[in-house]
Amino acid sequence: MTDTMQAAVYYNNHDIRIEEMPIPEIGPDEVLVKTIASGICGGELMEWYHAPRAPKVMGHEPAGIIVDKGPQVKKFNVGDRIFVNHYVSCGTCRPCLRGRFTQCEHLKESKLFPGTTGQYFRVPSRQLNRDTLIIPDNVSFAEATVCEPWGCVVGGLKVTEILPGDTVLVIGAGFMGLGFIHMAPLFGAGKVIAMDLSDWRLNKAKTMGATHTINPSTEKVEEKLRDINGGYLADVVIVTVPSVNLYSQGHSLVEKGGFLHLGAPTMPEPLWQINPQRQYFTEMKISAKYSADHNDTSQIMKWLAAGRIDALSTITHRVELKDTLSAFMMMVEAGESLKTIVYPHGLDQEIKPVSK
Ligand SMILES: [Zn+2]
Ligand SMILES: [Zn+2]
Repeated sequence: MTDTMQAAVYYNNHDIRIEEMPIPEIGPDEVLVKTIASGICGGELMEWYHAPRAPKVMGHEPAGIIVDKGPQVKKFNVGDRIFVNHYVSCGTCRPCLRGRFTQCEHLKESKLFPGTTGQYFRVPSRQLNRDTLIIPDNVSFAEATVCEPWGCVVGGLKVTEILPGDTVLVIGAGFMGLGFIHMAPLFGAGKVIAMDLSDWRLNKAKTMGATHTINPSTEKVEEKLRDINGGYLADVVIVTVPSVNLYSQGHSLVEKGGFLHLGAPTMPEPLWQINPQRQYFTEMKISAKYSADHNDTSQIMKWLAAGRIDALSTITHRVELKDTLSAFMMMVEAGESLKTIVYPHGLDQEIKPVSK
């Protein structure tokens, strides 16, 4: 093995460069992973967040093979196929002791280095001990990468308290929205309504479990919702688009006693104005979930292994490292793309075909 590797380095949303850099060295309690697949995350399109932190190696949704390990590592071996989470809780701080792992005071202290859209990355001991999963034989690398983003989804579904038969409206049918649409029935949802401006995405939503769709560019949202739901608004509304306006619209579409879940972060400004009377008298609950903890990621992996969820249908593009920028631009423009997976060592490293 040479001692340098290639990695996709983010400068801004229009400038991603493939650069040569050293393969990371590992400590006695760490492992080195050969990155086979790395998902590009919708969160990486948030230029307001990432540009000030640039340049940096992209990626935090990795699956790969352990190629080297320190002498103190007992739990894993060279050759293991693994998924590893990028943010991992400490398990002992005050939020952790309350079970609020994604609020851990040390969540971002330990990092996958230098990022996962490089050919190799280092896994620190905390990640290795608290949130590294062996990928089952029947799960491809590409599927395993969704443990992080759909881990955020399952984490969200666990805090929204869907009751059996509830009507769930999901605003936004991108990759994350489709995750909510696809997995809400596993939490008991009855009707699942997808709302999006793109008919292409709405058609995809139907194949992923939506029973109904609403396209606000051609349909009156509240009217159609009441039509679908016997005159009522939705029991649960999940907003997966980072928009204050859609937070507000979502708030207005929740039935009395229902739930509004915020499944995507907005920019810090403008502020969100809520009708306080409606909030009080409807007894609506508002929930949010940031990131995925070790419970969430392992639950997604178990559902993948059981064949209970279908991640492959959401993977629309697979690219080699050199095509990271064009793949990223395609995601910025949205259009007919959902999840894009980068293969830093080439597409032929995958264990099975990843499109249906
Ligand atoms: Zn992500
Ligand atoms: Zn903690």
